[in-house]
Amino acid sequence: MQFRDLHRQYEAMRAEMDEALQGAARSGAYIMGPQVAELEQQLADYVGVKHCITCANGTDALRLALMALNIGPGDAVFVPDFTFFATAEAVAMVGATPVFVDVNKDTYNIDVNDLNEKYHDALETDLLPKAVMAVDLFGLPADYERLYEFCRDMALDLIEDGAQGFGGSLQGQRNCHFGDIATTSFFPAKPLGCYGDGGALFTDDDQWAERLRSLRVHGKGTDKYDNVRLGLNSRLDTLQAAVLQVKLRHFDEELEAVSRVAQKYDELLAGKVKIPMVPEGYTSSWAQYTIQAENRDELQARLKAAGIPSMVYYPRTMSQQTAFAYLNQKPCPVAEQLTKTVLSLPMHPYMTDEEIEIVANTVLNND
Ligand SMILES: *Cc1c(COP(=O)(O)O)cnc(C)c1O
Repeated sequence: MQFRDLHRQYEAMRAEMDEALQGAARSGAYIMGPQVAELEQQLADYVGVKHCITCANGTDALRLALMALNIGPGDAVFVPDFTFFATAEAVAMVGATPVFVDVNKDTYNIDVNDLNEKYHDALETDLLPKAVMAVDLFGLPADYERLYEFCRDMALDLIEDGAQGFGGSLQGQRNCHFGDIATTSFFPAKPLGCYGDGGALFTDDDQWAERLRSLRVHGKGTDKYDNVRLGLNSRLDTLQAAVLQVKLRHFDEELEAVSRVAQKYDELLAGKVKIPMVPEGYTSSWAQYTIQAENRDELQARLKAAGIPSMVYYPRTMSQQTAFAYLNQKPCPVAEQLTKTVLSLPMHPYMTDEEIEIVANTVLNND
């Protein structure tokens, strides 16, 4: 059994995919071929924002967002303590200081009460609070209703790290629409993945969009050889855009399929282990199906012995990372507790009912 079966996905769309790949290979337009601009329009329409700017990966997308917002040394950016390393890494990479905020034990997303505390703590330092980087962890949107209000009241920029969230929604509004700038990743195992690295940014603001298009190509001006700022070399390959165009056509079917898998897991596991919570008005893209169990390590060993892959996302919080020891920040107790109990089960749109039952029975130690 695979944790996320990308081979089955390829088989399901093989003819279209082979044609798209060969088309891109034959065209010779390997950098910024027409597929890139087409895909950007399709993604912007899908999410319901004015601009989509693709780039080389989800980490660059975060970094480009921070650069476009002019965030750098002396600035504080509030980041959930429980996330993939790249979220906080991007903040530190632009010279700003990531300030770690605890998360909600049920949704795994940034806790706005703790955000308020960390914000007031930061006011006592010589850092300037500048932005919140919220994460749609495991596919579930963060609490944007409260985050909007908080960021407006405190005059903070809001960045949505939607690397795992593409396809989820809140009150009918799709992820990657929230915040001033939103980002996503097309790493193969993400909800919408390509055949290598890829990423994108989303915004309704014309000026930020223009700045992002400049920043992703060495800070180019209107003349290609007049560079008006420092940027990155961070374009999405034509080949990856071609792959994503095919996958986007199947994406809604996949979202439906993956929510059926989640529902079946829920039915089999509810009341026996702590299943993921999806609050009213929210939908998840199901990047991960993450349970909590006191005997997590024993459970993972049992799954492994039965040939079932599972993953611990994440075994360390941001404040526990060696690379961030220099920050010496307050521990976040909920995030630390989660590192000891979370376990992500195999999850993808092509799982069969039989496979789901085998995983659930092994989790529950049924024969
Ligand atoms: C995967 C991921 C990223 C980074 O995306 P890459 O495309 O791998 O650079 C950033 N943030 C979160 C929450 C992620 O899961």
